[in-house]
Amino acid sequence: MQNILENLQQVHNQISSSCTSSGRDVSTVKLLCVSKTKPEQMIKEAYAAGERYFGESYALEAAQKIESLKSQGFNDIIWHFIGPIQSNKTKHIAAHFDVVESLDRIKIAQRLSDQRPDDLPPLKVMIQVNISHEDQKQGCDEHEVEELIKATSVLPKLEVIGLMGVARIDADKDELEQSFNSLKALRDRLSATYPNLTELSMGMTQDLDEAIACGSTEVRIGSAIFGAREYHK
Ligand SMILES: *Cc1c(COP(=O)(O)O)cnc(C)c1O
Repeated sequence: MQNILENLQQVHNQISSSCTSSGRDVSTVKLLCVSKTKPEQMIKEAYAAGERYFGESYALEAAQKIESLKSQGFNDIIWHFIGPIQSNKTKHIAAHFDVVESLDRIKIAQRLSDQRPDDLPPLKVMIQVNISHEDQKQGCDEHEVEELIKATSVLPKLEVIGLMGVARIDADKDELEQSFNSLKALRDRLSATYPNLTELSMGMTQDLDEAIACGSTEVRIGSAIFGAREYHK
């Protein structure tokens, strides 16, 4: 059994001590609770503890949880999509999410904008950048980011707000800092042209301290809050 309330207190303590050591105000780092594969009940526990930002990776599973929670009155959760995006799932993502962090190609941007329901505000998006330089990894190459932002920013139902990156799973401290610093440098450079590009989503359970030291504005934490994930084949 996971004690979600205790886990959350520990995560918040870790975030605030990271902020203190890097001279940052704790209010500048948002906690996204990554609830993929986890049951509704766990989301409700984190909600009761005061959390409002939740991240999901599987479009259909997420759409069901979001609809169910809304029907029970949980209307003020901000839902972030952080998983790989298949083009046949964009409709569910456009209809249910507030923010998409894993945008990495224009075809998907176009579909999300086309499919965003008229009664909803523009979908906020972040561009996922491949900062781990692994071939099979999600995210576009650093040199493709500007063009994708340019093409996305003219779409009527999308609003580009930042960049997201995932570091290599067994990267050491030096490599983590290199990856995170390169994402921050890219955001800093592009925000001269795109002033709405303020968000820097980087840092997970393993590497949140390094990410905060490098300027992360949002850490995406799953297992430290909800426990290890089990995947059923
Ligand atoms: C699953 C996932 C996370 C959370 O990972 P933990 O190691 O459980 O904290 C964060 N970001 C992305 C993109 C993920 O897919």
